[in-house]
Amino acid sequence: MAKAKMVEVAQPLEKSRAEWKKLLPADRYAVLFDESTERSFSSPLNEEERAGTFICAACFLPLFSSKAKFESGTGWPSFFQPLPGSVATRRDFKLLLPRTEYHCARCGGHQGHVFKDGPPPTGQRYCNNGLALSFVPDGSALPALRT
Ligand SMILES: [Zn+2]
Repeated sequence: MAKAKMVEVAQPLEKSRAEWKKLLPADRYAVLFDESTERSFSSPLNEEERAGTFICAACFLPLFSSKAKFESGTGWPSFFQPLPGSVATRRDFKLLLPRTEYHCARCGGHQGHVFKDGPPPTGQRYCNNGLALSFVPDGSALPALRT
């Protein structure tokens, strides 16, 4: 009997804020672990149009394929779906209307917010901070996951 194909779920990576602070540039740390948001239209990844993979800038887990990227007009890199099992969500009540925050499923680094006004086929819009991502073009090797 064939076994159902399981989505590989990354083992959580536990690191203290102090450790991340040492590993990451200050602007990336602020977004990933201090709930900062970059200025819109400030990330070069907003205009990245090559085929490839967007990985977590903290632990290097692949989060999005370029195939799921679309131009949302918001000034932040936007995707209609993450790679399977790569992000987890949490309700965020910092603004008046609740928003859904999402973060890297492996290291917990904050990535962005997901909204329900995205394009087909999912109708989802993952609005991501470019500083929380690194881009690896097809043909280049993905870096080993940070440990
Ligand atoms: Zn991560």
